Amino acid sequence: MTDTPQLTLDAISRHYPVKAGLLGALGRKRLMVQAVSDVSLSIHKGEILGLVGESGSGKSTLGRVALMLEAPSSGRVRFLGQDITSLPRDALIQHRRRAQMVFQDPQSSLNRSLSIGGSIESPLLVHAKALSREQRRVRVGELLDMVGLRAEMAGRYPHELSGGQRQRVGIARALAVQSEFLVLDEPTSALDVSIQAQVINLLLSLQQSLSLTYLFISHDLGLVRWLCDRIAVMYLGRIVELGPASQIWEQPRHPYTQALLAATGSRTEAKQRTLISGEAPSAISPPSGCAFHPRCANAGPRCARERPSLFSNGQSQAACHLLDGGTA
Ligand code: SF4
Repeated sequence: MTDTPQLTLDAISRHYPVKAGLLGALGRKRLMVQAVSDVSLSIHKGEILGLVGESGSGKSTLGRVALMLEAPSSGRVRFLGQDITSLPRDALIQHRRRAQMVFQDPQSSLNRSLSIGGSIESPLLVHAKALSREQRRVRVGELLDMVGLRAEMAGRYPHELSGGQRQRVGIARALAVQSEFLVLDEPTSALDVSIQAQVINLLLSLQQSLSLTYLFISHDLGLVRWLCDRIAVMYLGRIVELGPASQIWEQPRHPYTQALLAATGSRTEAKQRTLISGEAPSAISPPSGCAFHPRCANAGPRCARERPSLFSNGQSQAACHLLDGGTA
């Protein structure tokens, strides 16, 4: 791993307009879903950064913004120092050679009417126009081999493959144009448990042999701890803790991270008592102050009033009033 940030997210926010039901029909008033709010982080070349949080925390939205599959409402995305936020369309298409996504559900991410070979070949048609038909065929065979599938499978269709094989095709497709950076959005959560370890091992092996950089999105803190160099914990659109995987696992500092760990079921009994209570609030009207305060066992009067900043202890950052020397 080098010190060069491969990807930098600088004060990224992504808010979506939503119709406000009856209110919208009457007054045309539009509310906003605050999917991601003011997120800054860097991912270094060769690093695996885990992004964890509950469903609806904004992880997938942040992953799509990192690849500029959707533009941020505000903030900048930089790839190897270059601001890609305002690239013209053609330049952005060129950039996508270097940064790709592997989706959660390989069933819906592959075109059912295209053969496996056709799916893997399509990025080559966009990004490697100089290749002849024969060169593309050879490259598709190499990619299938790289992900542990036989070259003869190129003629098969998605419905003829198992879930694990389809996800391998998704990975081959993402690597077709020699990507350096992959966003892996819950890449194993749609697979049988028995297959998940095989796909994770494949991803790890490819990361090491091709010096890839991963943003690995997951709700499984145990998996992320095992796989990743650092972990960022998201809650309601914001990063609440960020640090080395071992530190987040062994000494989580934010009450939400502690609750997530307790919920994995593999911690001490004392920590398991710190379970997350209640449903996550709506991202349309997030709570004032610290957004976690309605569910936090440690919340005090300050928590509802004042949003905590990320507080660093040198190794990790966490956003909680209990960590800045003050009180909750
Ligand atoms: Fe809990 Fe307050 Fe810390 Fe938020 S700031 S995590 S509510 S103690």
